[in-house]
Amino acid sequence: MIAPSFLEEDGTRSKGSCCQDEFPFAMSLGTGFLVTALVFVFWRPQQHVFLDRICITESDPQLKAEQILSLAGMLKRSREMLVLWDSSWSDRLWCLFELSAFLKSKADSEHSRLLVTPTFMGPCVVATFLGMFLAVVPLTTFPLDASFLIPMVFVCVFGAFGALCCAHAFRSYFQSVDDLKEKLQSVNLERTRSICCDLNHEGDMTCDREIVKDCITIWFGSQEAFEDCVRSEVLETLTSELEQSVFTRPWRIAASVPFLWACMDLAAMNAKTQHWLIAINWLLSGLTMCLLACPLNIENLANLAHRFRTRQPTAAREALMDVLVLLLALPLFLCGTALTFLSGALQPPLPSLSQAAFYGLLELVVWLKRTGCFSCARSKGQETGQPARTGHQF
Ligand SMILES: [Zn+2]
Repeated sequence: MIAPSFLEEDGTRSKGSCCQDEFPFAMSLGTGFLVTALVFVFWRPQQHVFLDRICITESDPQLKAEQILSLAGMLKRSREMLVLWDSSWSDRLWCLFELSAFLKSKADSEHSRLLVTPTFMGPCVVATFLGMFLAVVPLTTFPLDASFLIPMVFVCVFGAFGALCCAHAFRSYFQSVDDLKEKLQSVNLERTRSICCDLNHEGDMTCDREIVKDCITIWFGSQEAFEDCVRSEVLETLTSELEQSVFTRPWRIAASVPFLWACMDLAAMNAKTQHWLIAINWLLSGLTMCLLACPLNIENLANLAHRFRTRQPTAAREALMDVLVLLLALPLFLCGTALTFLSGALQPPLPSLSQAAFYGLLELVVWLKRTGCFSCARSKGQETGQPARTGHQF
């Protein structure tokens, strides 16, 4: 989706502007990647957290019992709870107990915040970022006097492979969320797991289960009331967060930022030789790709993966469904690409503006849908007898 009118008539990027020997090549891309890697490895959050796994003692049974009984006060005074979720979450007694207690203690509070992050998002974000980075490397490292078509084909082929991997990962994730719904709807406190019981309380280990059961009786009134809370409030809150608040816009932009770096390099090369209009075009194209095009295409892929998430009976059919999701996601990508090439053929002063306008308009539609403007229209439609539609959105 890089505007072809930035190129020369023979398909290269070099006419009158080749400055490979003068300008540090891929400087933005290389520097951006290096700084991101350093921040990723060395930066640590500074806020205080209560991490149950290390803040509750295992060595002193009496102190451990007192700490667990004090959890209610700890949860009540906490502003936020971070749930690191994976498919084993619903089987674990501690997880169900803590989230239920947090939701109960914050029932009347408007200032509490629940953050749910699937553990799969860690490798997913890193892999998406690295995939985007590797996809754009040829844009700024391929010989300038060669056809630009080769790195563009590489970007498209590599991008399609990455999108297929994402389609598979997203579908698997939504399938595990469906499994979560089933498990929570039939939750039974006696069937939940705790580490102490899994280890058969070796070495006179205290059983958490008995202490937690006492807490549940004190806080919820009975085990049945606790299970009802899990089947209703916990189920609704958790699945809502996992389906609608995971593939957030900030992470989609963060994963797409290598496109901006690559376009900044191409803009810098042209600015160096005072081809200002071409430089502005590359910069605008990079901003459009990073802030609008890539995030919207990722969101579209995730929405389709959610819609076609149903688990298939064989691995071959699962793979076919992944390919189907990819094929259904292609039209949005192809529309943006076709518009870009059409703009390039018409040779306007800033062809990237059409690309930015296209994705900007789409983003506006998505934003209006998310903020409920269309729901208002639907409500009016229902009053006049028109059918309502429902749809998944992030
Ligand atoms: Zn136990």
